[in-house]
Amino acid sequence: MDVLLRGERLAQGSLRFGNLKGQPKFRDQVTALVAAGRTSRPVRHFHLIEIAKAHPMKALCWHGTNDIRCENVPDPKIEDGRDVIIKVTSCAICGSDLHLMDGLMPTMKSGDILGHEFMGEVVETGSSHTKFRKGDRIVVPFNINCGECRQCKLGNYSVCQRSNRNAAMAAAEFGFTTAGLFGYSHLTGGYSGGQAEYVRVPMADVAPMKVPDGMADEEVLFLTDIFPTGY
Ligand SMILES: [Zn+2]
Ligand SMILES: [Zn+2]
Repeated sequence: MDVLLRGERLAQGSLRFGNLKGQPKFRDQVTALVAAGRTSRPVRHFHLIEIAKAHPMKALCWHGTNDIRCENVPDPKIEDGRDVIIKVTSCAICGSDLHLMDGLMPTMKSGDILGHEFMGEVVETGSSHTKFRKGDRIVVPFNINCGECRQCKLGNYSVCQRSNRNAAMAAAEFGFTTAGLFGYSHLTGGYSGGQAEYVRVPMADVAPMKVPDGMADEEVLFLTDIFPTGY
């Protein structure tokens, strides 16, 4: 894949992910391209090198009203023992994503990764995670549930009292708070979404489900949001 910076193709595909591991080689390439005037904008190579250090993946990032870009961003990391990281095999764009694109939903920040309807293969598990193993295919509901709070115990997962890291902000804005949601502003916890090559799934031992063998992505992807919320 070519290196993209802010949605912009850089220099005729001559920089590839395969080169990013060798930092000196990559730096030399960028410097040479800049010197030869083959970047379409002036010197951004410092920023590029910073991105390269973080082993970039591609993701759809929000940058403002009607400004969504496919960019290289750092890979997600395990942050808690209950987490898993998945390699996304399918994701969907929701009608609700339009409210992010058109600026209706407040508290988006430049660079936020979108997407709350996704599924994929587990590639990493947290230290205390026991539900899934590497290689499992899982489908991930859009809301994040702790499984332990009063509302989760009552089965009211969409209003989990613990998964929204910014619950106080949401309560001040709306008078109530939802659970933490993937890719849906900082009012819902500021979690990176799944319109990306990889995504961190917090509290992954509660809501995500293993996909039975023999079922195609298209047969289960809508369990992430459209099917249950429509029902
Ligand atoms: Zn949705
Ligand atoms: Zn909960």
